Amino acid sequence: MANFETPELKEYPVIPVIQNDVMAHSKPYMAAAKFQESLGFPGELVENWQAKAIEKMGDLLGKSRALQVFLDSCVKCGACTDKCHYFLGTSDPKNMPVARQDLLRKVYRRYFTFAGKYFPKLVGAVDLTKDVLDDWYSYFHQCSQCRRCSVFCPYGIDTAEISMAAREILDHVGEGQKYCNEIIAKVHVIGNNLGLPGPALRDTLEGLEEDVKEATGVDVRFPMDEKGAEVLLVTPSADFFAEPHVDGLIGYGKVFHASGVSWTVSSFASEAANFGMFIGSYDQMQKLAFRIREAALDLGVKRIVVGECGHAWRVAYSFWNTLAGIGQGGKDPFSIQLQKQLDPRFPVPQHICEMTYDLIQRGALTLDKSANDDRVVTFHDSCNVARASRMGSMPRGQFIIPRAVIKASCNHYVDMDPDTIHENTFCCGGGGGLLTDDLMELRVKGAMPRMQALKHVVDEHGVNTLAAICAICKTQFAKVLPYYKYKMSMITSVHELVSKAIVLGDKQ
Ligand code: SF4
Ligand code: SF4
Repeated sequence: MANFETPELKEYPVIPVIQNDVMAHSKPYMAAAKFQESLGFPGELVENWQAKAIEKMGDLLGKSRALQVFLDSCVKCGACTDKCHYFLGTSDPKNMPVARQDLLRKVYRRYFTFAGKYFPKLVGAVDLTKDVLDDWYSYFHQCSQCRRCSVFCPYGIDTAEISMAAREILDHVGEGQKYCNEIIAKVHVIGNNLGLPGPALRDTLEGLEEDVKEATGVDVRFPMDEKGAEVLLVTPSADFFAEPHVDGLIGYGKVFHASGVSWTVSSFASEAANFGMFIGSYDQMQKLAFRIREAALDLGVKRIVVGECGHAWRVAYSFWNTLAGIGQGGKDPFSIQLQKQLDPRFPVPQHICEMTYDLIQRGALTLDKSANDDRVVTFHDSCNVARASRMGSMPRGQFIIPRAVIKASCNHYVDMDPDTIHENTFCCGGGGGLLTDDLMELRVKGAMPRMQALKHVVDEHGVNTLAAICAICKTQFAKVLPYYKYKMSMITSVHELVSKAIVLGDKQ
């Protein structure tokens, strides 16, 4: 375990006494030059970095009216100050959302407002110095872009957008983050975050078929690159091997099997995650999403279903249509061809929970809840699903559907405190491109508010299972639960619960 103290879990939430700059040392490793350059960014800090950064800021302000409104409209009311899990877990005042925003806002004022140009001290405007740039690198990598603060801001200011802009500027002057940029580079070449080539993926899927056959006696298929399949499943690559993710993938396979829907994954687009969002780059987000469009066209599928992944669902739900022409909006020939190919009776994209929920509603699945009678389950709403997208056709479907799937699969379910779920959910502490071991202190401390809410339901209701529908949340919880004296096996895929409960037929 690393050299820092795990926060104490209190009975009630307590706003910490501030400790200035206590997390100033926290920063992720920078990306190596070859990865930076492969994404079109400078390999290291450029000589004229200050001019380039201001120029990029101007470019972003020109493209995003929202960014300028967010930078102009804060009235320092303070409503957001105690809403960030990283402030609550670290006590560093620069982790208050308003203070984080101000790191960029002060520079924006200096170079882009009349008052800041001529009376900088009066309006808190500052020059972009190397110290300021260093603060950006540190504190914009202490924001998981979870958007919780924006729920409480009377002006709806979205700190996540400001963090994304700051990271985009950092990339353009040569200070990209290793974890995100190396992963993006891998997807461009190999098709997934893990760098798992097609033959290895095929071996993994065949291994799953053998495992399921041994456990159930049933031939459940995990197909790859099968032309003419009805569904293309795009899922986070962690689902192919990590725990507890892979048990979720087994659950998806069983749902497809039980419902008789043919499906396939693609070796070319074997990744739902899209880290282009974390670095604020629409360019990268688009390039990564184009792989999925190409795979869908190549395989001739009728539907695209997205596996359990929070930010991937946000990218799919909110950006696939407009950025990559996967949906009804695209006007280029590939988009039009895909529109003709996809079955209009199903949403594009469709979440795996939405698909399973729909099958349950129609009585197409048989679920034996008693198979999960050893579990008392609670559910962690993942930020990008809860606050940045929807699911299904009903309002608040993103909260209703996963819970309905869980409740159809087990007898014992309890929610955590209302202030910590649904749109108020606390981040797991590892989202937004921060799921890297060089940020372990931040991840553990940032998980504190979620762990505190978990402790209440563990103590009061005997909860022993924390279910989630996000690959990053699952990996983060597997890592941080032991810091808070909980077993890492508490964290579970929602479709693992489905997998245990689903009745596939008699064993042979
Ligand atoms: S978006 Fe989330 S992580 Fe970022 S400042 Fe707001 S609450 Fe904190
Ligand atoms: S809640 Fe909104 S307006 Fe108030 S301080 Fe925070 S960002 Fe500014």
